[in-house]
Amino acid sequence: MSISPSFPPFYDEATDKAAENLRLALPLIRKNDAPANPVNYAVWYEYVSGNNADLSTAIDELTENSEAITANISQSLYEKYVLMDMPKRLKEANTGLNGVVNNALNNINDVESKTNQCLSNFKESQAALKKCDDIDGLKALVGQILSNTKEMSQTSEDLKESLESSVLEIEKLKDELNCVKKSAERDSLTDLLNRGAFDRELQAACEDDAVNVALLLFDLDHFKAINDNFGHLLGDKVIRFFASLLKKQATGLHLAARYGGEEMAMILFNLSQQEAFSIAEKVRAEFANSRLKKRGSDESIGQVTVSVGISMKRMGDSPLEMIDRADTVLFQSKKNGRNTITVAL
Ligand code: GH3
Ligand code: MG
Ligand code: MG
Repeated sequence: MSISPSFPPFYDEATDKAAENLRLALPLIRKNDAPANPVNYAVWYEYVSGNNADLSTAIDELTENSEAITANISQSLYEKYVLMDMPKRLKEANTGLNGVVNNALNNINDVESKTNQCLSNFKESQAALKKCDDIDGLKALVGQILSNTKEMSQTSEDLKESLESSVLEIEKLKDELNCVKKSAERDSLTDLLNRGAFDRELQAACEDDAVNVALLLFDLDHFKAINDNFGHLLGDKVIRFFASLLKKQATGLHLAARYGGEEMAMILFNLSQQEAFSIAEKVRAEFANSRLKKRGSDESIGQVTVSVGISMKRMGDSPLEMIDRADTVLFQSKKNGRNTITVAL
């Protein structure tokens, strides 16, 4: 099963597949004369696993130009494609926030010194007022007090404006951080939650005794044949189309995720088994009734179907137990002829 990259990195290969990746990665590290440290290993492990398409494209482009993947290049590939650019993006957000806070502090300090100046001007005027006994002196003092008052009011107006612009900056940074967080949790092909985020959500759902949880596992039927007959790009399009059917059902608290290559999942909250089944049935029927077209043609690719397994949370369930039960009945759906939903009893 292939999964898309997520942050933090997530690996779910079985022991023998991971050992095979190790066997393939080591010669590549050696060939590039790089030390077999965790950074280089992660880069080449992800490359040979084939699960990180952007990393593979970047490495292939470099090697096509006969460039060695030196330790330095490997470090930047690691940060960009394995850590999904998180260090750089967080540093940028941090620098931006620092700038806003420094700016606001400078403005506040500036206002403080202007306010102190105005205060001492007022005190001087007050003292002069006590001694003043002629009309011209009084007129001059009124002029000073007026200009001092105007300056004070202008200073607080400036502070208001600069704080308002700080608020706008901070809101922009908040949006950027949300965007960073969202992209780390999303699968790039489908924009569904990725596997790392799915695992965290299912863990939280299992730990929350106050919610009922239904887990739906979907596996597209004979998907290898779709790729073989119509090409990988059309295969990707079918996956995206199927994801759009899940998104339509993922209203309210419900979540939809890309669990693996052509395997997707939904976590449904506070629904009965019957209600969870009817959501799965809507997706199954809509997919089976869709008439997807071949690339660049009006001709249909024929019926595409999905098999589904459902498990309901039981007292003290772990995510693994819920997944295991859903997976077992998903296998049952395959055995029963595919295009079928089975519920774990
Ligand atoms: P079954 O009905 O038993 O599930 O048969 P299947 O052919 O769907 O199952 P199998 O596990 O043999 O094949 C899954 C295929 O899905 C193989 C893999 O190349 C393809 N696949 C996985 N991820 C992607 C992807 O991101 N894009 C495309 N186009 N194909 C993918
Ligand atoms: Mg599969
Ligand atoms: Mg399949």
